Amino acid sequence: MIGIDLGTTNSLVSVFQNGTPRILPNEMGETMTPSAIAIASDGQILVGRAAKDRLVVDPGAGKTQFKRDMGSDAKYRFGGREWSPAECSALILRELKRVAELHVDGEVTSAVITVPAYFRDEQRNATLDAARIAGLSVDRVVNEPTAAALAFGYQSPEAETTVLVFDLGGGTFDATLLEIFDGVIEVKASGGISHLGGEDYTDAFCRWICEKHKWTPPKSEANRWRQHVEMTKRRLSSKSVATVSLGSKEVEVSYDEFRAATQSLSERILPVVRRCLSDARTDFGSLDDILLVGGATRSRNVYDDLATASGRVPNRKLDPDHAIALGA
Ligand code: ADP
Ligand code: MG
Repeated sequence: MIGIDLGTTNSLVSVFQNGTPRILPNEMGETMTPSAIAIASDGQILVGRAAKDRLVVDPGAGKTQFKRDMGSDAKYRFGGREWSPAECSALILRELKRVAELHVDGEVTSAVITVPAYFRDEQRNATLDAARIAGLSVDRVVNEPTAAALAFGYQSPEAETTVLVFDLGGGTFDATLLEIFDGVIEVKASGGISHLGGEDYTDAFCRWICEKHKWTPPKSEANRWRQHVEMTKRRLSSKSVATVSLGSKEVEVSYDEFRAATQSLSERILPVVRRCLSDARTDFGSLDDILLVGGATRSRNVYDDLATASGRVPNRKLDPDHAIALGA
């Protein structure tokens, strides 16, 4: 049996062996499979990295972020046919099943799959449909924050424990308050912003750079240039300056500039966290831990804002990309 984090931006697969969970990388050594589907010019179905690369050059050839539409009757048109969100998700699940089978003997037929805590029945059912299409029977559907808490070692604390799971992914922000006692993990409150994540930070940074330097990437290069800014953004999580090329010109950008460029996004996060805490009639001071989940929590400004507001040191013991899959 495998564990799957079916993410909006990236998906991962894990297995529990010799007493510990382990993330399973694909043939390229990558642990994250972009949640992207595309059709190649020869009609072949592309999944993951290959699909994401294809969409950089031909955005109409496929779809990303279909997780947002799970459980709705949304349809996408590409490759000469219509696709439902569950059919797209099924291709990701099938790819992860295939990756898992590279590592374990024999066929993988069942999985634990994680979903956001706020997913309604229709959304959970669409996830089950996707698994059925992919040839996986689902042993259990686990809430993402619950999986994260398990991965951080909170399966059976000695005393009742209250943790905040702070999950900033590619396109969504989720704050969840969990109460854990005697092997039971209960969602006490949850909140979030359905359209705020690392991708929005990248977009804001792109706009800011273009405005400041009065420059626009040529249309054919726009997606490629955005990817370049994405890498610069990541570099600024650990460095104070980095360079960006604007066509033939190179300019310096600083962490302070990135912070300013994305301030209006960051400002929306803490009110949601405070609301989640107050819904559960608690506050930062009463928490036992704050767990960081999702790739965008690596952003230095996101971390600093949370640390300052809470007056505590958020827990980044685990790779924030891996926590949910390890828990699954
Ligand atoms: P999801 O849960 O939506 O599938 P992830 O948890 O995989 O998403 O997060 C993906 C996001 O993490 C991307 O938007 C990416 O820009 C961001 N990210 C990854 N590494 C870094 C980094 N070092 N600094 C800032 N953001 C990062
Ligand atoms: Mg995620």
